[in-house]
Amino acid sequence: MTGRTEDREVATADVDVTTLQRSWNRVGNDGSGVACFRGQAAELATAARHNGQPRVAELAMMIEVMCDPVAEGEESVTREFASIIGNYLDALDQVQSGYAEGGAASPQEHLSHGEVFLLADQRQTDAQDIRRQLAHFGYQVTTVADHDALLKEMQRAIPLAVVIDHDHAAGGVALDDIPPPLRQAGGENLPIVMISSRGDMATRLQAARAGIQVYLVKPLSPHDLIDQLEQFAPATAPEPLNILLVEDSRTQAMYFSDILERAGMQVYVEADPLQVLNALEDRAIDLILMDMYMPNCNGHELARVVRQVPRYASIPIVFLSSETKVERQLDAMSRGGDDFLTKPIEAEHLIRSVTIRAERARTLRSLMVTDNLTGLLNHTRIKEELENEVSRSQRRGGQLAFIMLDIDRFKSINDTHGHPVGDMVIRSLARLLQQRLRRSDAIGRYGGEEFAIIMPDASSEQAASILDGIRRSFASLSHDGAGEPFSVTFSAGVAGFPALTTADALTAAADAALYRAKHQGRNRIIEA
Ligand code: GH3
Ligand code: MG
Ligand code: MG
Ligand code: MG
Repeated sequence: MTGRTEDREVATADVDVTTLQRSWNRVGNDGSGVACFRGQAAELATAARHNGQPRVAELAMMIEVMCDPVAEGEESVTREFASIIGNYLDALDQVQSGYAEGGAASPQEHLSHGEVFLLADQRQTDAQDIRRQLAHFGYQVTTVADHDALLKEMQRAIPLAVVIDHDHAAGGVALDDIPPPLRQAGGENLPIVMISSRGDMATRLQAARAGIQVYLVKPLSPHDLIDQLEQFAPATAPEPLNILLVEDSRTQAMYFSDILERAGMQVYVEADPLQVLNALEDRAIDLILMDMYMPNCNGHELARVVRQVPRYASIPIVFLSSETKVERQLDAMSRGGDDFLTKPIEAEHLIRSVTIRAERARTLRSLMVTDNLTGLLNHTRIKEELENEVSRSQRRGGQLAFIMLDIDRFKSINDTHGHPVGDMVIRSLARLLQQRLRRSDAIGRYGGEEFAIIMPDASSEQAASILDGIRRSFASLSHDGAGEPFSVTFSAGVAGFPALTTADALTAAADAALYRAKHQGRNRIIEA
């Protein structure tokens, strides 16, 4: 019924969602009319893009793309295909009836991340100390001498927090009068921290009434201040759930990944089941969504292969199949799969099943892989991570640095200041490493006061120089003992891939280099 002429006619007409619906109803089981339908979807996409309806444009474009294999004669009009298109048309319909389009612009981001305004006497050493120590932890500190200067800075930028040395500020302005102009410039929730030599109840109460959230009494441990500031740091958006979709059909892969990505997940598609182990090595996957029927290897077999690798044993696997026989489903699950979804699957149902399982698995994994004291990766996990990174570098080429780090004379710190103070030192080094290394670097607590770091794409030379900067920062931090403040140092050994080609060789070499660093007098970084 649908000839070229008609296609062209329709393409010049005004297409809306209703037209598209009608055109879909005319598509036959043999694929007739698909070309016309696809052309209209494309036209709607273009028009929507021009009219500022991005969601309509996206959905229409997805329909267009989904039709390609059918229009090209590569795939036929199956029940699945029909249900996929049906879902998209429903979504378009909802958008058209107005409830999804045109979300309000996101509120303006005005927190300048990590900037702190410090109202204090710059000539005083404790102010300089605070400034220096905050800087080591990655905060950018602007010191101002008085209220006027502070308010002027507030016009330039809104900081993460304002820290006020009350002893210094008290010169002219009453405590009650401090917060209002600051909040007027920086918003109702602007964190204000007060440090003071007065710890009496009356002053504390007055500060609380003035709406000052944090009140710290001198002498001050910089760690106290950093602990407080950390709670004000803008919450970083949680990492999206990472889903590995193993699906040989391009159309279906697009369909499923589109649904999940709209729900905020990150989807990695793997069309070849034999590449799945590599795909798992490449990134931390929270859940595998696996087609049951694929060439080379079916879902049952693939699940068994994945489960053979101990570190993947806890990743949930959800099978996708048109298989409805209950026995076959149970069979699949007993072989290591965790759930079975039958195609065609409603978008809502897919999102719910995947989210629940992926989130649960992620929580369990984070409990299993992180160290309690520091939140860094634990020993087992950092070793696994090194194996992964090494095989990734082997496949892709490139370099990698591995570092073993050990705090110097830590036993004597415990002996002198007690175990809890020792713990605090370990935590502050962990925090410093987190602040100063890249997000792509993996940091682990290897043992008591030993850390291991993996820096992908870094040479040992680069790694050593970065570590040396951190070493200097750490050495200049002053820690709070029961009595005297004290400083601590660390030593580290660096080894690199491809000079060394296995995880074991890298570990041994970094350890040997660390041993040499200790023997040469500690507080230094040595390259293997
Ligand atoms: P160096 O590395 O410079 O050779 O000397 P060191 O004193 O650091 O040497 P060693 O590695 O022998 O000592 C480590 C000490 O760390 C022993 C142990 O009591 C202490 N330690 C291990 N784990 C923890 C922990 O979680 N908290 C605290 N506070 N101390 C720990
Ligand atoms: Mg298939
Ligand atoms: Mg040690
Ligand atoms: Mg040590």
